[in-house]
Amino acid sequence: MKRIALLSQRLANQIAAGEVVERPASVVKELLENSLDAGADRVEIDVEQGGTKLIRIRDNGGGIDKDDLGLALSRHATSKIANLDDLENIASLGFRGEALASICSVSRLELVSRAADAAQDSAWRVQAEGQEMQTAISPAAHPQGTTVEVRDLFFNTPARRKFLRTEKTEFDRLEEVVKRLALSRFDVSFHLRHNQRSIHHLQTARSDQEKQRRVALVCGPAFVENAVRIDIEASGLRLWGWVSLPTFSRSQADLQYFYVNGRIIRDKLISHAVKQAYQDVLFHGRHPAFVLYLELQPSLVDVNVHPTKHEVRFRDGRLVHDFLFRALHKALADVRPEDKLAMQTVRDGGGVDPETGEYVPPVAGPTAGEFAGQERIRFAPVSYGGGSAYSRPPADGNGFSAAQVAEQINAYAELAKDDEVPPLGYAIAQLHGIYVLAQNRNGLVIVDMHAAHERITYERMKAAAQNEGIRAQPLLVPLSIAVSQAEADCAEQQAQGLLELGLGIERVASESIVVRQVPVILASADIEQLVRDVLADVREHGSSERIRNYQDELLGTMACHGSVRANRQLTIPEMNALLRDMEQTERSGQCNHGRPTWVLQSIEQLDKLFLRGQ
Ligand code: ADP
Ligand code: MG
Repeated sequence: MKRIALLSQRLANQIAAGEVVERPASVVKELLENSLDAGADRVEIDVEQGGTKLIRIRDNGGGIDKDDLGLALSRHATSKIANLDDLENIASLGFRGEALASICSVSRLELVSRAADAAQDSAWRVQAEGQEMQTAISPAAHPQGTTVEVRDLFFNTPARRKFLRTEKTEFDRLEEVVKRLALSRFDVSFHLRHNQRSIHHLQTARSDQEKQRRVALVCGPAFVENAVRIDIEASGLRLWGWVSLPTFSRSQADLQYFYVNGRIIRDKLISHAVKQAYQDVLFHGRHPAFVLYLELQPSLVDVNVHPTKHEVRFRDGRLVHDFLFRALHKALADVRPEDKLAMQTVRDGGGVDPETGEYVPPVAGPTAGEFAGQERIRFAPVSYGGGSAYSRPPADGNGFSAAQVAEQINAYAELAKDDEVPPLGYAIAQLHGIYVLAQNRNGLVIVDMHAAHERITYERMKAAAQNEGIRAQPLLVPLSIAVSQAEADCAEQQAQGLLELGLGIERVASESIVVRQVPVILASADIEQLVRDVLADVREHGSSERIRNYQDELLGTMACHGSVRANRQLTIPEMNALLRDMEQTERSGQCNHGRPTWVLQSIEQLDKLFLRGQ
């Protein structure tokens, strides 16, 4: 056995560096946080070779007094807290006094600083090189603020150096750190350069438009174009920011920024609330994108549970969860065709400035505003009885009768006279029995009629189930279906729950059931297939559970059957009724599986296709 001895200060720092300094990105995080803590509103980040060769961060913050310079690099030396009280009310990003000591124990570090109150040309420099912090201080030239230069990271710890990945990977992580902080502080300008190339140049952003511009620069213009801006306040909580439309989902959870009182957070409770809010509208396995800011009284949240792990502890987690869920759920439900249209119209105004290469956010044009404020035209219920819309069979089975054609032409002529065009416009034709084509003020609207109708039916059934209950109607001729014994068992056990969903099913023999009533809204569906699918769903969920727990899924299955099928001829009034319904329905922009239900081809886009006006 060896004898016990105190670690040298250097070795102790290197051990600590193992926790704080994992890779170039962590150095950048610590240094940037120091700059922000010092009150800087301008930071410049220069990086070479993914940060392994050089990281230089220059700020215009409060600087460091000459007398404190030596201490700044020592372990457990901080200006940010002095006692336990301070520890419980931390307003700064750092407070452990470990970062600089750790970084300089594994790199060649130079710090030049001029304090705010120092005389002109009295800046000072300290240097350290992976050794004990007995550093010489020498005069230097520097405007107010601090520059920290970290060279040759891990030059003296080859084992750690081996864990570094390619230059590109290291830079990507480092860039992510800059992005996170840039989105947390719109009032600070950030300039990031890699190998002398400018990567992000973000000006301070004050107005909403400037903020949105920064978000577009950091997250890409497509995100902003496909996101809704929200700002919701309730019970002392405020949530604002940008959330993507469900149709702009991603295969990875890589565009998700969530800040609690200005700090980036990754927290289970928050992810769960967000996921739930998107549950109904997102294609399975896809991830939403968002930049969100939650603001609440600091005393209601403990942000320093894990300073580097980005976790928080809320005093009332349930309240926060419910608030987030409701706010997002509502924001997504409120997206209507005219909002999406407004966004698309807006998009046509924006673009990449060919000179600077920067994205210029568009300004909402008059058309967008007009659509948003326009009153919707309501249709008289043309051939639109009960809930089984768009389902009237054409007179001769396939085509239309002469009278019907005349009716359509009249209806269209009547509408065309009107100069107030609703957001999704008026139907002009049906394509291959799948798509409805409509004309609105911007151009051509193409609707996937099954997907759209499915969403409408589903939302109606959900609303009915929650409110007055689903209206059911008895079948004139009860339908008997031969099923397996297990299915019959299931139908028998779940009879009450199914009845609440509007399905009246009775078991008549060990392998036979009879359907006596169905929801009015599904009256024209293929009842046998509907019942088989619902029973399959119920069995899959385990028949011991109460149906109410997965009611939405069952309603989704039912809605699919109740929806207009492909290859069904619709009359113009029926198509128009569908368009009006879409305008009225929550979440109608995507079907139950998260696919879009309609798209717009603007006249400008069509002109481009035909190279008009170029
Ligand atoms: P901490 O941030 O936890 O206090 P650090 O090791 O990161 O510990 O920094 C030590 C001290 O050095 C800070 O408390 C601060 O007083 C000073 N300091 C570091 N960076 C800067 C900077 N960019 N501007 C002004 N002061 C700084
Ligand atoms: Mg620090």
